[in-house]
Amino acid sequence: PSTCPGEKLAGTPASPGIAIAPALQFRPSVAAIPERKVDDPQAEWSRLNWAIEAVKKRILQMGLRIAQHADDYQATLFDAHRLSLEDPALLEVARTNIFERTLNAEKAWQLALDDMINVYQDAESAYIQQRAADLDDLKSQVLQMLIGAPSRSFTFERKSILLAGDFAPSDLARLDPDMVAGLCTASGSPTSHSAILARSLDIPMAVGFGPGLSGVPDGATVVLDGMDGTLRVNPAQIESFRERQNSWLASQQKARQARQQPAVTRDGKQIGLLANINYAAEVAPALRKGAEGIGVFRTEFLFMERPSAPAEEEQLAAYRSIAESLGKRSFIVRTLDAGGDKPIPYIDMPVEDNPFLGERGIRISLSHKDLFMTQLRAILRAAPGHRVKILLPMISSVDEVRLSKELIAEAQAELARKKQTFEDPIKVGIMIEVPSAVAVADRLAREVDFFSIGSNDLGQYVMAADRTNPRVASLGHALHPAVLRMIRQTVKAGREAGIPVALCGEVGAERVAVPILLGLEIDELSMGAAGIPAVKGVIAKLSLAECQGLAEEALDLNTSQEVRQLVKERLGETVEL
Ligand code: PEP
Ligand code: MG
Repeated sequence: PSTCPGEKLAGTPASPGIAIAPALQFRPSVAAIPERKVDDPQAEWSRLNWAIEAVKKRILQMGLRIAQHADDYQATLFDAHRLSLEDPALLEVARTNIFERTLNAEKAWQLALDDMINVYQDAESAYIQQRAADLDDLKSQVLQMLIGAPSRSFTFERKSILLAGDFAPSDLARLDPDMVAGLCTASGSPTSHSAILARSLDIPMAVGFGPGLSGVPDGATVVLDGMDGTLRVNPAQIESFRERQNSWLASQQKARQARQQPAVTRDGKQIGLLANINYAAEVAPALRKGAEGIGVFRTEFLFMERPSAPAEEEQLAAYRSIAESLGKRSFIVRTLDAGGDKPIPYIDMPVEDNPFLGERGIRISLSHKDLFMTQLRAILRAAPGHRVKILLPMISSVDEVRLSKELIAEAQAELARKKQTFEDPIKVGIMIEVPSAVAVADRLAREVDFFSIGSNDLGQYVMAADRTNPRVASLGHALHPAVLRMIRQTVKAGREAGIPVALCGEVGAERVAVPILLGLEIDELSMGAAGIPAVKGVIAKLSLAECQGLAEEALDLNTSQEVRQLVKERLGETVEL
């Protein structure tokens, strides 16, 4: 099908906004997959299983991350995606390819998936066809894990509106959001992963245009309206669309300005609201949502999905570009928090029975000194002129802090010898996310400049409830009084030592939790940026004194459910919870 000038295609709105830009069909190039005969099929089978496990964890992780950004996150989408990787029929074909055809893991996986994708593509039902796209994404993700490089790539030079059959979330995660004016898909749905991602990046998107979309020629000027879900090809009155675009941008600007006001309670207590980010691209949208800075940059994402660790210069460039977009706003860089549910293929991490209780976070950094030193040098070099602080993850005892600080001093000495510019002194804080750290928080507080409570992990470790296991994860919710008591103890230790205490777990974005966290005297909340406007609205309606009373009561309840109930009963009428 081809499209005539002036034609208007109708789809379904998926992310608001108006984009006017050249159209570009998204046709990624696919890396050639090596084919070999192997002597040790067992080893290939283990490699394949390792890669599948790693992708499962990544999908889960992505679900958790996106949940922090999107208000309309659907866990089931990610679960379904993950479950396909456990499909016995699929695994059996891959296994036969390895053991009987003695193929390498890459080829065995590719062929197994191609067979299945073909079957699905030929199906009548649109739902099943959609599953073919999901399988295609899983195929590339596992291949990427095995070959240590993206198996699909797409480069382009002009900011464009990209058109595709559908986008895999991993496709979008690799694109530079500044180059993408808008997104359109022939199939897809507004609740797909890619639509959720588009909303979190403020990129207009519409889906479900049908096969006609592939007829839009590259380079044609198109107007995408993410509100009514239409795409106009070379429209006659482009000026009228520019006007609409301008008035949309102006209304966004106004909403944005309102969001830039600080979060203050009725009785005048100001709470810092910062954003957690995984990628540099999230900084600008976070600031637009009213973040006052970055409370946690999860640097492990710089280390994932690649064959080797990023060099010092590459890390420096990444940290510096974020620091520059933040100017004098707070920028907290968390050192590598690998392990647990975030495996890194090139770090020699043995398979562990209990990865969350294994070599994770600071433990890996301390046992891989070169890796740690490289990261520390890059952070120290990016910091001058900005408000960069170092945050150490998974601290469980004082000696780890002392050792880390010695290494920071060593990195500074090295940089001084090399006559590089670097920050000295630099503020160093720790995550409080392991119960032992709470137990000795008074000791730890004397060693560091700030605390940041990682309630996602603190909840799982306090309650002995794996945060990635859906059967028990909710037990570890941070509103459980056991966790709240740990938070109180941490804040008390921070107060006595005169250091600020932030909280950077997901619970900070839950409206109903905000009064309790304020009542426990948390100074700063860091969260997925999507939560910030609503949390700001809640804070404006609260009084600190009232929150303190509520928190006291909450500490004496028995379940997180009861805590929620309490807040709703007391505040539900006046505050939108
Ligand atoms: C936490 O544990 O609460 C946290 C913010 O860190 P992450 O989710 O990256 O483990
Ligand atoms: Mg954590």
